[in-house]
This record gives sequence, structure tokens and C-alpha cells, in this order.
Amino acid sequence: MKPAPFEYHRPDTVEAAVALLAEFGDGAKVLAGGQSLVPMLALRLAAFDHLIDIGRIGALCGIDHVDSRVSIGAGTTQATIERSSVMAEYVPLLARATPFIGHFQIRNRGTIGGSLAHADPAAEYPAVALALDAEFGIVGASGRRSVAASDFFTGLWSTALDDGDLLTDITFPVWSGRCGFAVREFARRHGDYAVAGAAVAVELDVADAVVRCAVALFGLGATPVRALDVERDLVGAPAVAMAPTEVGRRAVAMATSIPSDLHGSADYRRRVGTVVVADAWTAALEEARRE
Ligand SMILES: Cc1cc2nc3c(=O)[nH]c(=O)nc-3n(C[C@H](O)[C@H](O)[C@H](O)COP(=O)(O)OP(=O)(O)OC[C@H]3O[C@@H](n4cnc5c(N)ncnc54)[C@H](O)[C@@H]3O)c2cc1C
Repeated sequence: MKPAPFEYHRPDTVEAAVALLAEFGDGAKVLAGGQSLVPMLALRLAAFDHLIDIGRIGALCGIDHVDSRVSIGAGTTQATIERSSVMAEYVPLLARATPFIGHFQIRNRGTIGGSLAHADPAAEYPAVALALDAEFGIVGASGRRSVAASDFFTGLWSTALDDGDLLTDITFPVWSGRCGFAVREFARRHGDYAVAGAAVAVELDVADAVVRCAVALFGLGATPVRALDVERDLVGAPAVAMAPTEVGRRAVAMATSIPSDLHGSADYRRRVGTVVVADAWTAALEEARRE
């Protein structure tokens, strides 16, 4: 099938893009890498009179490391993140999540902003952003604002972005110290969205007690889920105090709306989720202990 007719706009600046979004209201949609939007248009699951292609806005591309933060332009491709030595060193959790996204052809076009704005509950980047307490920079008709990851994902494919808003940048804090990071997921085929997945970060002190940690789940609810209660119990205790399967079981118990679909029942996802969390927790701990 072919998309319904639309008018194509290609602004060069953030200001011009926001002005177009304001002018056309809910008849307009941002087009980034097109890897989620174009299939939806082609299948006529969605139709918009105006597509605002942000692919030529240079200000939306790039990775900027300053002190203890890394800011990434929303238009930065997933392939750029995958190849970036800055990302590998300072935000390894995001770097390690990237190869799980589709195939390299998709990552060559797909952007971090598109992935986060699309907010698929089984996608990797939203869970990483939630785990690391990323900040989302948004520009709309009334100016710029910042939204915490914990407030950004509001429901199934829904976010804090309003009509007329452009996601411009995402800022990640740099974790330093004896840290370990791991992403694990189970998908039916490599490149598919996850049936269940986990993104884990942990920092240990010299005695191997947990200083801080983050456990985020994907594929296990309408939004990514942060296992805050489990994190609270892990912090301050020796890393070995809770068995990995117990970390997995308790983290998955925090996912209260696990879907059932043709890829797996809720019960199946719960069991797979427990295993992937346990694997990710084990791998992150092993890395932190080596530091
Ligand atoms: C076969 C296949 C397999 C895939 N597998 C995975 C996978 O395993 N994991 C995964 O995470 N993803 C997967 N994807 C999706 C891929 O990661 C997309 O790149 C991503 O979801 C959307 O990024 P995009 O830049 O292509 O955005 P687009 O498709 O252009 O846009 C997606 C949505 O975000 C909005 N948007 C985009 N940028 C902005 C912005 N800056 N501000 C406001 N709104 C914006 C658009 O309006 C649209 O609603 C897959 C895609 C395909 C085709």
C-alpha cells in the first residue's frame, strides 16, 4: 500500500520546524528516520496532511560530553551512537542497547529521538533512558522545557510530547566509580522487538556493597518499567545479598500490566523476564567487580 497524500516540508532549523508544527497543528507529524512512521503511513495505520522532515537540521545531530553529562541531539542516528567512543566510554548502557535495535540498515536511518518519541514499550532506548534518569529537552510553541524520563513515557506509544512539540536533545548522567552495565533481552529473531528485556546499571563500593543501581524492564508493560522497590532493597547491601533470580522475580513482579499476544502470554513473558533480569544483574555485577 501507499501512504495517503501529504505535503512534505524540510526545515533547516529547530525554530522553522516548530513554526511549521504550530501552523499545521495535529495535521502535522515529525519525520525523523522514518523507520517506524513510514511503515505506519504505508499501511495506512496513520495519515497526516503535513510531514515535517527534521533530517536536515544540523543542530539536532551530535554527541556532546561535558563534565558528568552527555547530551545527544534527537536526530542522532542509532548507528552514530553505536560507533561512538564517547558513548561506549561514558554511557555504555545506551551503547550496549543499540545493537539490539532492528538491523544495521534500520539503525543507519533510525534516530534516538524517533525511538524515544515513538515509545514502543518493547524498545530498548526508552528503558535505558528510564534506568539512567535521562532528561528530555523539548521545544514547542511556548519555548523550551525539560522533562525527566520518569515523566516522559505516559502510556502505550504515548509520551509527554504535545502536538507542536519537537524533542531536541536527551541528556544522560555519566556514572563513574566501580560500575557495571548490561542489557539482556529475548526476541524470537535477532532484530525483532523484545519479548522481554532488561537494562541494568550498578555501582559497587570497595567492599562490593551496592552504592546505587537501576533495573528497567521492557516488553513487560505499556511503558518501560523501573523496578524502584527492588533497587531500594539492593542499595546499601552486599552485592551477593540477593540472588539474581530473586532480583529478577521481584523486578518482574513490579510490572503490573504484562501483555499477552501472539509472541507470548503474560505468564511466559514473566518467566522470560525473570531470567533476562537475572542475567543482566549478574553481568553488570561481574563488570563492576572487575573495576
Ligand atoms: C523491521 C524493524 C525492526 C525494528 N526493531 C526495533 C527494535 O528491535 N528495537 C527498537 O527500539 N526499535 C526497532 N525498530 C524501530 C526503529 O528503532 C526506529 O528507528 C525508531 O522506532 C523510530 O526512529 P525514527 O528516527 O525512524 O523515527 P520516525 O519513524 O521518523 O518517527 C517515529 C515517531 O517519532 C516521532 N518523532 C521522531 N523524531 C521526533 C522528534 N525529534 N520530536 C518529536 N517527535 C519525533 C515521529 O513523529 C513518529 O511519531 C524497528 C523498525 C523496523 C522497521
